[in-house]
Amino acid sequence: MKDKIVILILAVFILTGITSCLPNENNKDLSPISKDGFMLGTFVVIRIYDNKDEEILEKVFDRLKEIEDRMSINIENSDVSMINKNAGLKPVEVHDDVYYVIQKAKEYAEITNGAFEPTIGSLVKLWGIGTVPSDSEINESIKRVDYNKLNLLDDNKVFLEDEGMILDLGGIAKGYAADEIKRILLKNGVTSAIIDLGGNIFGVGSKPDGTDWRIGVQSPFEPRGNHIGVIINSDVSVVSSGDYERYFEENNKKYHHIIDPSKGYPASNNVTGVTVLSEKSIDGDALSTALFILGVEKGMSLVEGIEGLDVVYITKDNKIYISSQLEGKFELADEELELIIP
Ligand code: ADP
Ligand code: MG
Repeated sequence: MKDKIVILILAVFILTGITSCLPNENNKDLSPISKDGFMLGTFVVIRIYDNKDEEILEKVFDRLKEIEDRMSINIENSDVSMINKNAGLKPVEVHDDVYYVIQKAKEYAEITNGAFEPTIGSLVKLWGIGTVPSDSEINESIKRVDYNKLNLLDDNKVFLEDEGMILDLGGIAKGYAADEIKRILLKNGVTSAIIDLGGNIFGVGSKPDGTDWRIGVQSPFEPRGNHIGVIINSDVSVVSSGDYERYFEENNKKYHHIIDPSKGYPASNNVTGVTVLSEKSIDGDALSTALFILGVEKGMSLVEGIEGLDVVYITKDNKIYISSQLEGKFELADEELELIIP
């Protein structure tokens, strides 16, 4: 009897040993589960490569909805709308999420000397009409733009000092959202996923085979899907800002959506696109907007001074400038372009 049990146990061990060595159909299936939708004013796609649990995707989209409901300027009673309605009147208590993002926005306003400007709203609204505003309209709006008058008080209270000021988190909220999605994915055991928030990409973990992600950098010169180069890295946020995504044209001149707060006009220099690599997407988002305005020289020196940050600048004269740490992690895809490494 005893012998039989031993044989049985041995047989079970051998069999399970054999089956675990056999090629497993599930392991071979590298196709991701995915979900897409229009959130935070952009087309969102989430792809998970190492987990088939669709519920994770639901959790991610629920969280996106929550962030949008709190931070959107277009939602009547969002925390941000309440801050704006009460500008010049009284402080408004906001959710932790919103307080954190505003804190970060103010921090980046300080770091970038006001190039990143969370109170840019009145100018964004003015230019959003889709025609070039008059000088007097610009002068009126620019008076209501000043991050020093954005006050973060105790108990999660936020106050805009002057009536007519408009807080706009459009240049940073998507970055926060990507960080939150990543947090949810990791909490649910995901080690391989791509988060795409309208071209703001987060490569979570690595490719399912363990190698680095290859993340394309959109060409400002060609239609969507054409890349000037590829970022080769894992666990990385890759955020781009450019003058080619959202703009209107008047008298053959392009007017895009990134406003230089010091001038009240869309930023105008030789930059056409900028891509920021960072560990956290909130940093990359705020900085990509600011670096676009600051231009190559100032922007590059800012990036080189901050640990864990990299940048790809694309200029109108077909040059690509990359920060020194990016060498070896960036592959040029277009031979017409000139790569410049400091
Ligand atoms: P996108 O939203 O196209 O990915 P950005 O992250 O660069 O691009 O954000 C642009 C948005 O940020 C604008 O639509 C506007 O809401 C806001 N914005 C515009 N200019 C500034 C600025 N100087 N500082 C902060 N936010 C800005
Ligand atoms: Mg941004």
